[in-house]
Amino acid sequence: MAVYKSKGIVLRSIRYGEADRILDLYTRDAGSVSVIAKGIRRTKSRFGGRLEPLSCVDFLAYEGRTLDTITQVEVLRSFHGVREDLARLETAGGLVATMRALAGGDEADRRVFNLLYHALDTLEGRTEDHGSVASAFALKLSMLSGYALRLDACVSCERNLDGLADEGFLYYAPPLGGVLCPECRRAGYAGDAFPLPDGTLDALRTLVSRPLKEARVEDGLGESVRRVVAAHVIAHAPGNASFLDAPDRRSARPA
Ligand SMILES: [Zn+2]
Repeated sequence: MAVYKSKGIVLRSIRYGEADRILDLYTRDAGSVSVIAKGIRRTKSRFGGRLEPLSCVDFLAYEGRTLDTITQVEVLRSFHGVREDLARLETAGGLVATMRALAGGDEADRRVFNLLYHALDTLEGRTEDHGSVASAFALKLSMLSGYALRLDACVSCERNLDGLADEGFLYYAPPLGGVLCPECRRAGYAGDAFPLPDGTLDALRTLVSRPLKEARVEDGLGESVRRVVAAHVIAHAPGNASFLDAPDRRSARPA
């Protein structure tokens, strides 16, 4: 029975049977895993409150046939400040949904783990503009997952997008994963595409290039940025279905 140790962030916690819980964690060393915490709902559980959603923990687990069993837990960060504030908690729920959509695979990627950790850390320290953290997180996670949003040139004709504003609106085309120039849009692109208000492209570029901690979107552009980000995640979400089957995925574990 292989035992493994990793750092992980609790994404979801579901009651199971009389006293147990099944937890989905995104781990630093094994990607997404599902584990059972036996007896965690008993008052004298040795786990105490150490496996609350969003907590970052060091844990020990052994592999089972259908589920791994968690045996030891130490809290590294509880992100209590995120869980206890409704606005932050809602934003964190969005981060988790984005993780499920884009990073559902069980291949370990420490960059994804670090990105999620930094997003929660940033949220915990912020009193406002939580939406910019969520947008920056989704854009950066898209890049790490191989679905980077194309922001330099038109996805259809490859024309540089700088200086095209005079010709009319730029458009975002979700199925193409990038921005369409006004000419290509007029030429009859038939898929879903919606206009980007002035400044949106620059706001997206800034979110991609700056560190997560500095994620800021100018007032008035937040909604158009969020619309692009949400459409992009939905259009490029390969992990959606597989994450729901999490307990069946059994590979990429360190021995
Ligand atoms: Zn074009």
